[in-house]
Amino acid sequence: MLYTVKEGLLLYRDKLVVPNSPDIKKQILTEFHTSHMGGHAGILRTIARIQAQFYWKNMRQDIKEYVQQCLICQQAKTSNSVPAGLLQPLPIPDQVWEDVAMDFITGLPNSFGFSVIMVVIDRLTKYSHFVAQKTEYTSRTVAEAFMSHIVKLHGIPKSIVSDRDKVFTSSFWQHLFKLQGTSLAMSTAYHPQTDGQSEALNKCLEMYLRCFTFQNPKAWYKLLPMAEYWYNTAHHTSAGMTPFKALYGREAPTLIRYGANAADTPTIRDYLLQRDAILDQLKSNLRRAQQIMKSNADKKRKEAEFKEGDMVLVRLQPYRQHSAALRKNKKLSMRYFGPFKVLAKVGTVAYKLELPISAKIHPVFHISQLKEFKGGADEPYIPL
Ligand SMILES: [Zn+2]
Repeated sequence: MLYTVKEGLLLYRDKLVVPNSPDIKKQILTEFHTSHMGGHAGILRTIARIQAQFYWKNMRQDIKEYVQQCLICQQAKTSNSVPAGLLQPLPIPDQVWEDVAMDFITGLPNSFGFSVIMVVIDRLTKYSHFVAQKTEYTSRTVAEAFMSHIVKLHGIPKSIVSDRDKVFTSSFWQHLFKLQGTSLAMSTAYHPQTDGQSEALNKCLEMYLRCFTFQNPKAWYKLLPMAEYWYNTAHHTSAGMTPFKALYGREAPTLIRYGANAADTPTIRDYLLQRDAILDQLKSNLRRAQQIMKSNADKKRKEAEFKEGDMVLVRLQPYRQHSAALRKNKKLSMRYFGPFKVLAKVGTVAYKLELPISAKIHPVFHISQLKEFKGGADEPYIPL
């Protein structure tokens, strides 16, 4: 019985069936991709988020097209870059919140007195917390923040991988133990190699903030809680589930509830068994993903080719962005401008573009600065 009716709603495999109306579908796509909750996530993540609640025919294709054509995404994201750090050199942890990674995103525009984001990731579930810090953060202020944002929820971890140096890290541990009120001389667990995952996450977070604050980069601080929720409830490809589910054994409450499972709430015992099964599943997914990533690591990206009349987006060097309007901050400004029309191919690797007269830059670009533009020309465009 694939279709059922519950409280007047038509369900397909317990998902709400969406009527064949472009308006309604558009509304769902907007809500689940363009909103703060959707976070301009990629195709797979947007599909996972929508499929958790809705069903319509050819929904995957519709979602794929919508995301590919999203102008904000095309301007904010570097082309299909597989983050270099996806290879995980570190062993998969055994328990949640025992082994964490801690990184710092610096160089953000000053927002309510903050310019740094401390990113703390549980290396097993990928569940993360984002904590704003001031420019002049120290090992002591970081230890205090760690206490009040991480330890109060998850306890003291066994190990921390960090992008900071050994001196900073051991001083951080000492402050942390002092804050606990213990004088025990604990040996400091320190891993010098950084885990590529946090680098991937940082890119993700920067992209999220860029998508929502490019017109007002100083507003990022206000978005941080939403960014954390978005990240933790987004489908993680290598884990095969969301960080939220990996940590709590269930999905975060959804936007709409139609009581699909209200009647069969599991007993505590069932819940705990299910919890263990989810963690086992997570570990085996991560192991498999590691193998796949390793084998894909050497595959090289093909260089794109364009022809006359194609519409493309242009990636500008930071020093160029200085002279362009709106580009006050490098980190949270858009990466691509356009779309512009290709006028001609120049040599083997460059193209001449039709730029607006107001743009005072040379109209010939190397192919590595260009990417294909998808979607309708009626979208607003970001001027140079
Ligand atoms: Zn988007």
